[in-house]
Amino acid sequence: ALASKTALVTGSTSGIGLAIARGLAAQGANVVINGFGQPEEIERARAAIEADHGVRAHYSGADMTQPEEIAGMIAEAERAFGGLDVLVNNAGIQFVSAIEAFPVQKWDQIIAINLSSAFHTMRAAIPGMKARGWGRIINTASAHSLVASPYKAAYVAAKHGIAGLTKTAALELATHKITVNCISPGYVWTPLVEAQIPDTMKARGLTKDQVIDEVLLAAQPTKEFVTVEQVAAIAVFLCSDAASQITGANLSVDGGWTAQ
Ligand code: NAD
Repeated sequence: ALASKTALVTGSTSGIGLAIARGLAAQGANVVINGFGQPEEIERARAAIEADHGVRAHYSGADMTQPEEIAGMIAEAERAFGGLDVLVNNAGIQFVSAIEAFPVQKWDQIIAINLSSAFHTMRAAIPGMKARGWGRIINTASAHSLVASPYKAAYVAAKHGIAGLTKTAALELATHKITVNCISPGYVWTPLVEAQIPDTMKARGLTKDQVIDEVLLAAQPTKEFVTVEQVAAIAVFLCSDAASQITGANLSVDGGWTAQ
């Protein structure tokens, strides 16, 4: 359904972003993947997308803390594929600490990657979408765009921010056949979640099993992690014609977390 379209997914060398890139490629879109990691692993992921789905896949190493690299990445995608139709702002990092001990540099980095990068990609991509009269912008927010948890000040602030940016962009673009939505997963089993377990153990004085049961899945009534494929399926749906009147929405995939 996305044949002849091009999708760019920030932070797609692993986890949710890679699953979204693969999901959009399965619909026939050419994709640009982005993010950090081992060069051989990134190349393996890029080549697998091309081999599995018969589309073209490019890689951009642009750093989402650097506005000029972001603008260059969008321009390069438009040049390589003749336009950018689907923009998925997914890059994100986490840091767990009490506010008074929160490193200032970590605050700035999280706001830059998890929030400001979406502004920079949008401002670069929207003119082309308007000119072609179609577009889909999907932001990976979080249950933390709707509710808070202690010790995640920068992340919660950035995710609440991305929810507001999503609504604003949806209103600005409503008459241009460009929809803007965010997806808000609860806990998805990815490297990001795995990596925050040691810090949470330290911050709360818990064992690994206690962090999983009492902190992570405590908030999730289904007591199961969301899968990356389930998040990707929503992104694919938002790109369909059936979803053309869904804009400015914040779609929860959180096992009931934010129903509480
Ligand atoms: P992940 O760590 O597996 O993936 C993060 C991606 O972002 C990687 O590709 C990484 O290389 C990239 N990245 C990090 N810093 C970057 C930078 N400066 N420039 C470019 N790319 C950068 O994590 P994930 O769990 O797949 O998270 C993806 C998104 O989903 C994030 O926005 C995260 O906040 C959100 N999210 C995750 C969960 C969860 O439980 N895993 C829940 C809700 C929301």
